[in-house]
Amino acid sequence: MKKESSRNDFERRNFRFVVGSQFLYGPETLAAVEQNSRAMTEGLNASGILPSQLVLQGVMKTAEEIDRAIKEINHDDGCAGVITFCHTFSPSKMWINGLSLLQKPWLHLHTQFNRRIPNEDIDMDYMNLHQSAHGDREHGFIGARMRLPHKIVVGYWQEEETLRKIASWMRSAVGADVSRSLKVMRFGDNMREVAVTEGDKVEAQIKLGWQVNTWPVGALVEAMREVSDRELNELMERYADLYEFAVADQDIVRYQAREEIAMRSLLDAEGCRAFSNTFQDLYGMKQLPGLATQDLMAQGFGYGGEGDWKAAAMTTVLKAMSAGLDGGTSFMEDYTYDMGGGLSLGAHMLEVCPSLAAGRPRVEVHPLGIGDREPPARLVFEGDTGPAILATLIDMGERFRLIVHDVECVKPTLTMPNLPVARVMWKPLPSLETGTEAWILAGGAHHATLSRACDASLLRDWARIMGVEFVHIHKDTDPQSLEHELMLGDLAWKLRVK
Ligand code: MN
Repeated sequence: MKKESSRNDFERRNFRFVVGSQFLYGPETLAAVEQNSRAMTEGLNASGILPSQLVLQGVMKTAEEIDRAIKEINHDDGCAGVITFCHTFSPSKMWINGLSLLQKPWLHLHTQFNRRIPNEDIDMDYMNLHQSAHGDREHGFIGARMRLPHKIVVGYWQEEETLRKIASWMRSAVGADVSRSLKVMRFGDNMREVAVTEGDKVEAQIKLGWQVNTWPVGALVEAMREVSDRELNELMERYADLYEFAVADQDIVRYQAREEIAMRSLLDAEGCRAFSNTFQDLYGMKQLPGLATQDLMAQGFGYGGEGDWKAAAMTTVLKAMSAGLDGGTSFMEDYTYDMGGGLSLGAHMLEVCPSLAAGRPRVEVHPLGIGDREPPARLVFEGDTGPAILATLIDMGERFRLIVHDVECVKPTLTMPNLPVARVMWKPLPSLETGTEAWILAGGAHHATLSRACDASLLRDWARIMGVEFVHIHKDTDPQSLEHELMLGDLAWKLRVK
């Protein structure tokens, strides 16, 4: 199975382990807390399950120490989040000033250094040292009382399930950090008259950090003229390595290579990791970028069709969060149904990422049904099978809503030899009818990001960190309850506007 390639986002970030205690129990207990905290940090890192390194910040005994630690953490650009744990009781009024300054995602790990109680040896000293059952409740109260968004993970710290939960939250936190520095390049505006691809770009930057700006298609055409033969030959070699060729005229593929190199150079020059374009604005270009866009997505760039910068940015965030995990991630569109089979067929005009392909994608050339350009080269393939999610971010006017739908990707029911695009087929949960009713009720777009690597919990944690409404459609979703949830949510979110 294919994987998202770049692990760099995780390697260059760290998380801080902040352990709560106090001076009440004497120096011997504090020395043991310090030693155990070090052993836990080393053990968690040695597990090989966490995607980023955990660094022991220290054992906190006073409000001043907590205040200092949080300020240091806030100022470290390499730090993507904080994990707290109260080995002993650590009075929470000490934590109020520090936590009120915290600007990084927070996970409260409720665990205990020892797995079992030593029956023969247990005494009051043991109880005072190993009292997270007690201390973490005090710690949890202040998180709830201060209404600070945070994740709680409960479980023994050496247990794989606990480690996997921490790892998943770390991915969400790194996704939040990627989001806050994300730049999106738009070639052309939104498709004329389309509503769901519109949105408030200022609000998106305030809330999500996305810097969404436009570049003229003319600048891209100019960059295409500057592409050298050497660059073209190199990219054609990459295509030949990765993809099967079913094309008579190589010049048509070379034109896509030229588009890819030009787009890549503009994206890199501006530090953009996502882009959008529209078939309605290709002035001076012979082909709608197909293979070019697909191959950029395969390298981690997010894309949105018809000017959909929200879908482009979300695709980048999901690709970044799932780097190293099994399964691909792509821009996607619900296209047509097999209503008898309870299935949806997803595709786009051209732009589906080959990270979802079941086999080796084929480069083919066919005319486009829409628009007025020459037939473009594109990758054609069938999607991989197994569980996946569809994620779509919509602008509700005064807030963003993230809708995540659990689906099951299946092998397309028919071979569809005349369908000239990459396609993925899935069964929406709990069924095509109920799942789609819920999606439409919540306002879900026709554009989404399909991911075989991310799950709903990853996106739920990301949405909590970003302060975005989260709606999950899953195997037990009932549209009546969802309607009620959305109505109450609408009131709550209106009150929460700052
Ligand atoms: Mn579309």
